[in-house]
Amino acid sequence: MNERVERAIGAVVGSAVGDALGAPFEFGVAGLFSGRFPVPGGGEMCGGGGWDPGEATDDTQMAVHVAESLLERHGFDPADMFARFQRWAADDPKDIGLQTEEVLTGGMPWDLAAAIHFQVSRRAAGNGCLMRAATSAVYFATGGQTATMDAGRRIAALTHGDRAAWEGTAVFHELVRVALDGADPLDALPAVVDLVHADHRERWATVLAPGWHPEQATEFNGAVWPCLGSAVWALRATGGFAEALRAAVDLGGDTDTVAAVTGGLAGARYGFGAIPARWTEPLHVPLPGSGGRVLRTADLVGLARRLTG
Ligand code: MG
Ligand code: MG
Repeated sequence: MNERVERAIGAVVGSAVGDALGAPFEFGVAGLFSGRFPVPGGGEMCGGGGWDPGEATDDTQMAVHVAESLLERHGFDPADMFARFQRWAADDPKDIGLQTEEVLTGGMPWDLAAAIHFQVSRRAAGNGCLMRAATSAVYFATGGQTATMDAGRRIAALTHGDRAAWEGTAVFHELVRVALDGADPLDALPAVVDLVHADHRERWATVLAPGWHPEQATEFNGAVWPCLGSAVWALRATGGFAEALRAAVDLGGDTDTVAAVTGGLAGARYGFGAIPARWTEPLHVPLPGSGGRVLRTADLVGLARRLTG
């Protein structure tokens, strides 16, 4: 397969693998993963905390709904995507972000729900829009820098009213686009930060700077800034896909999501072939809101191929 397709599949499957790898460690302290698995190898996709080994969570479930909406509607149809999210939320997913749930189940129309939630709560900078963005990043990458960043913002805005979350999703989209083109996303970071909305640029520049470490985070990594900052740090601090994901999960906190975001970036950077088979073999995605379907790695590969066009 050509390298671009290989990287696109890497982004989609890599994100799902990170989600499943991190899920059993969600809300744990740092160092749990490396304490249990000091050397890379079998058993890491261990399950626990209500998750079967290799079972992906809401991060990947929503990413699949994003993908299927984009493919079936031939582009971003916000009302359709929001309706799919609502069907998913109503079908009792094992996990759902607090903010996402409030927006999707509040009974408001798609074009008002997130904005009104933000007006009332003043807290809408969760990572729940970033966690599901690997599929949309692949889909919009061929449209170029402006198109993919704008799409990232608009899809994020379906559930997250805070522009900080839109900007983080836009940065992720652009880093994936750069990686699919065969360049190093870390080299592109300074130029990408310049494209962040002026009101949010400084805060994003801080967490994406080369010297930033997750220990410097000023919020829990369920917030969008330290989540993407940690994923970029994991990519920077390591030299391969598996190493990056092990580092991400080992940070503790919102491990499934930090690892899903890391896996999207690292998969786009290193390609599908770099993802260990010991992780892709048990991977599966039960998909609420879809009539009981369960996707396996081969299904995600097919989805990624269709997303690349
Ligand atoms: Mg999750
Ligand atoms: Mg999570």
